[in-house]
Amino acid sequence: MNAATLVTGGAGFLGSHLCDRLIADGHEVLCVDNFYTGSKDNIRHLLGHNRFELIRHDVWLPLYVEVDRIYNLACPASPIHYQNNPIATTKTAVLGAINMLGLARRRRARILQASTSEVYGDPQIHPQPESYWGHSNPIGARACYDEGKRCAETLFFDYHRQAGVDIRVIRIFNTYGPRMHPNDGRVVSNFIGQALRGEPITLYGDGLQTRSFCYVDDLIEGLVRMMNQGIEIGPVNIGNPNEITIRDLAETVLRLTDSKSELVFRPLPQDDPTQRQPNIDKAKAALDWQPKVGLEDGLKETIAYFKKIFRSE
Ligand code: NAD
Ligand code: UDP
Repeated sequence: MNAATLVTGGAGFLGSHLCDRLIADGHEVLCVDNFYTGSKDNIRHLLGHNRFELIRHDVWLPLYVEVDRIYNLACPASPIHYQNNPIATTKTAVLGAINMLGLARRRRARILQASTSEVYGDPQIHPQPESYWGHSNPIGARACYDEGKRCAETLFFDYHRQAGVDIRVIRIFNTYGPRMHPNDGRVVSNFIGQALRGEPITLYGDGLQTRSFCYVDDLIEGLVRMMNQGIEIGPVNIGNPNEITIRDLAETVLRLTDSKSELVFRPLPQDDPTQRQPNIDKAKAALDWQPKVGLEDGLKETIAYFKKIFRSE
């Protein structure tokens, strides 16, 4: 087999879009997934393609394959999924990083880590530059994910310093788009699902907390640019700096879906960050990257996807 590009978590939301992009760019793609939160439906159209292979595998275990590029995306990403089995989440983040870094070292492959804005925790500096070390709770409900991802970053930089592994680390901020899991509890999928079904829109807390939402196509472009350049190892923030309150997001979704759903208030989950906005100066300078898709355009695409899957159900 020719050396290929490995995508762990390739059957997930972001991973499946990345597989599409890599196939379109002419790469051999090896998709590894244990289907914990991903689905074959996301990659069904690629099965049978002569440059695409799928392996059911858990990244807790070592993997021996011929690859020269690795995108390490395997990890549940939505709070309800990663808190469902927090021990498994930490194991995926940490053992997955160790196993994939071991593979990169053996193969002398370049490896990119999909890290997260969650490494900044509930940030006290705003917007967040990569130089900020963060403000996270190591024993809270989100810690399995936040601290797992922080430890993975540590491993990436130690494998780089100690073993010369060619790493790239990006910190992804809230990303949305088609193929989000309809029941993953993330705010965009929840609000669109609730609006389309005419159910109440659940605002956690007062709804004045903020996030900055990046459309999936922009995110994938940033990820590929990070992998393909030879200078910046990261960490680099990839996200859309357009920050809005969750309440404004709810009202935008209601307007775009023409829904009459009412807004209801529910308790704020533990350690829910009050604000989040990426500083993307580094991505602009190192990758010549910035997001292009506006929130309303991205939401329209996402709403169209949810309408389609609800119809087929
Ligand atoms: P997702 O849950 O849709 O995808 C994760 C994929 O990893 C799934 O297909 C899942 O089955 C697979 N997986 C989980 N544990 C595994 C294991 N032990 N072995 C093999 N496969 C496993 O989530 P996503 O939104 O596509 O996120 C992908 C990556 O991007 C994650 O690492 C996440 O932390 C990171 N990220 C995403 C966002 C976002 O807004 N979507 C934000 C920050 C970081
Ligand atoms: N949220 C909400 N209602 C929902 C789902 C989420 O108000 O039905 C809020 C959540 O409390 C958080 C924000 O929306 O403040 C983003 O939540 P999400 O789980 O999508 O991502 P994260 O908290 O990891 O950024």
